[in-house]
Amino acid sequence: MIAAAGVSGKTIALFGLGGSGLATARSLRAGGAKVVAWDDNPQSVGLASTQGIETQDLRDVRWQEFSSLVLSPGVPLTHPKPHWAVELANAAGVEIIGDIELFARARRAMCTSAPFIAITGTNGKSTTTALIAHMLKNAGRDTQMGGNIGRAVLTLDPPVPGRHYVVECSSYQIDLAPTLDADIGILLNLTPDHLDRHGSMEQYSAIKEQLVLQSRVAIISVDDRHCAAIAGRLADAGHQLRPLSTSRALDDGYFLEGSDLVAARGGRQTRLVSLEGIGSLRGTHNAENALAATASCLELGMSVAEIAAGLASFPGLAHRMEQVGRMGSVLFVNDSKATNADAVATALASFDHIYWIAGGLPKKDGIAGLAEYFPRIAKAYLIGEAAPEFSAVLGENVAYEISGTLDVAVRHAARDATADIRGESVVLLSPACASFDQFRNFEVRGDAFRDAVRTLSGIETIGETH
Ligand code: ADP
Repeated sequence: MIAAAGVSGKTIALFGLGGSGLATARSLRAGGAKVVAWDDNPQSVGLASTQGIETQDLRDVRWQEFSSLVLSPGVPLTHPKPHWAVELANAAGVEIIGDIELFARARRAMCTSAPFIAITGTNGKSTTTALIAHMLKNAGRDTQMGGNIGRAVLTLDPPVPGRHYVVECSSYQIDLAPTLDADIGILLNLTPDHLDRHGSMEQYSAIKEQLVLQSRVAIISVDDRHCAAIAGRLADAGHQLRPLSTSRALDDGYFLEGSDLVAARGGRQTRLVSLEGIGSLRGTHNAENALAATASCLELGMSVAEIAAGLASFPGLAHRMEQVGRMGSVLFVNDSKATNADAVATALASFDHIYWIAGGLPKKDGIAGLAEYFPRIAKAYLIGEAAPEFSAVLGENVAYEISGTLDVAVRHAARDATADIRGESVVLLSPACASFDQFRNFEVRGDAFRDAVRTLSGIETIGETH
């Protein structure tokens, strides 16, 4: 655990008592603060009390006594409207921060020679965070990973010289971290998302900009116009900038050519590594993640050989294009995290000959926007409540069956794919739907897919570690 710094003798209000809230309370107390905590959910308040955390309805207290309000990132700060705790803090002039800010302050106070890599973007945050952490560990570096992925940041081991922190940051977390001060800040991409919580694209993009603006070196993909505008502003301000692109060659920065990652300085190009044959990094979107990871590892002094070894041995993240098995020329891929059409598009774009398992609880945008990928689909296996709606969209253009359940879909897709003699094919679960009609969450759905695949006779399993 990391003890909060600069809070000794202070009284701090804490709102939001989920897993990271409880960890924050412990960190504040270890730093010598008095914590008064609350949550709108009485069960969470009860749980905190049993853990010895002082709880009190923050509507019934004198806010003048507080030096900060530490807020859970899930609690609305501005939109659709500020939470009541935010309004009370604002009225009393009390600063509002989150656990990543407490981490940043503790690192500054304890040990600035512990490198801090902060990652954000609309998509690819978790993959890039896990990839960088894997590459560092693989090269023998002392590495801690957390934030919006895995462990809450304050539960990580304390900063010591040379210990690397690889921290995924959501826009909500950045909004609560006014002095993030990362050594390396990564901005992967920006597309409209969470606008209900940020008001507008401008607001959302301004929050993400803070992360790179406050880092010593900024690594920014310049492939979308929002990120390109941010990179332009940083360049004009003389900020240390490493732009990257998967769509065009850059004179200065990192780019993708075929499956090669290329570095350029003043127009001079150096081919670094090839992503050819790295199953966990398939697709252009993963090339973007790999470019960002490679740029940061170079910044941290890793050799090209270490980088190549780290990329090649990346196991991938569970439920995101996770390879779970192979049967002859048929690969089985679990992309259960793909709950909307955008995410499914990146998966469908990554293969040519697809036995596609889709369905669940349908989302508003449906699958009509995926039509350009339909020629890649050998057959679709539809499950859950979305089956009738999806079958109507696939119509006469794509062969399909209504399998109903995931088990049946896996068996039928495996039977058809292995009987196909046209060469390499994939059985892909990329549902374009939420899971809640048949599963507790997307992880449980992905686990069920993996289990169903692994009971097929003749299957060779991949990636036992997940
Ligand atoms: P996040 O943590 O930002 O939600 P993940 O790394 O968990 O992102 O990836 C979620 C899904 O987003 C993946 O299954 C893939 O479909 C898509 N994705 C991953 N990386 C990118 C990227 N760089 N650009 C666009 N889409 C991506």
